[in-house]
Amino acid sequence: MSEKEDFLHEFHWLMDVLQDIDVGLVILNREFEVKLWNSFMQNHSAKMPEDVLGHNLFELFPDLPKPWFERKAESVFVLQNAAFTTWEQRPYLFKFKNYRPITSIAKFMYQNSTIIPLTNVRSEVEHICIILYDVTEVAVNRLQLQDANNQLHTLSRTDGLTGLLNRKTWEQELELEFKRFQRHPEVSCLIMFDIDHFKRVNDTYGHPTGDAVIRETAKVLMDSIRDIDIAGRYGGEEFTIILTHTNKQGALVVAERIRTQMESITVTHDSHEVKYTVSLGIAEIHADIENRTAWIERADRALYQAKDNGRNNSVIFED
Ligand code: GH3
Ligand code: MG
Ligand code: MG
Repeated sequence: MSEKEDFLHEFHWLMDVLQDIDVGLVILNREFEVKLWNSFMQNHSAKMPEDVLGHNLFELFPDLPKPWFERKAESVFVLQNAAFTTWEQRPYLFKFKNYRPITSIAKFMYQNSTIIPLTNVRSEVEHICIILYDVTEVAVNRLQLQDANNQLHTLSRTDGLTGLLNRKTWEQELELEFKRFQRHPEVSCLIMFDIDHFKRVNDTYGHPTGDAVIRETAKVLMDSIRDIDIAGRYGGEEFTIILTHTNKQGALVVAERIRTQMESITVTHDSHEVKYTVSLGIAEIHADIENRTAWIERADRALYQAKDNGRNNSVIFED
């Protein structure tokens, strides 16, 4: 074989490899006309080389982010350095369907892409090459992990029965509110309430019905407060609320709304119909309160006063 023939063979082998490699290869000239379109691109776009070669990329794919891509490509032409984009920055360049059954939760193919400059014999860059990697599996795994972490984060903050903040998280919120008061002494209130004679509910109708009452109480509670108020499940059938920018008169209005609402509802569970009431204690923030525990104690004392008063009422803590 002559040297020329050798060279042609090598060239053909190389072209075969580029055609069949499992990454997308697209070569473009300065006018963004397609000069090479390998089988990966052909299979995923359902566009044959004869449909695309010599045509403008943006006309072929109107969904491409044109200004962004032009800027990126321009820097490769001018600086003669490669440019990279990951799926985290931009999920895909070409919108291809995801075809891998194992990762079928992704509707489209996540892609990393690299644009490299191609120099001619005079060391000028007249063409660039897009290299497209299918990273769907990596992306989906990462997204699932993130999702699981988010769920874990939520689960670790909330109470499983009611979805309200659990005691630990709620107390952290209370600590923040307490510290905020020390910087900007603006009034806020704490409400603590407890279901009256709840043991009777459990004893009469069973624990599952007791649980249904607790769940319903949380729902009514959430419907009775503003988005900025912070409600938590403090204990078994004890609930707490931080009411920001609210003085004790305002808190009393909220407490009475909760109380009358609870009094008016009937919880139906396992064909039992349960009516019940709650007692509420209110404590306004005050400069004399040394820490968050002392603030809770005030609300708790007011709550016990409400129980002493015969239950189904609200009491404001007074020194
Ligand atoms: P009071 O009016 O004085 O509050 O009387 P009470 O019967 O409600 O007394 P207390 O608050 O001490 O009773 C709490 C009861 O709540 C005792 C406990 O068995 C029950 N409890 C605590 N957590 C749960 C729960 O998650 N589900 C159910 N069903 N019951 C619970
Ligand atoms: Mg109780
Ligand atoms: Mg209790």
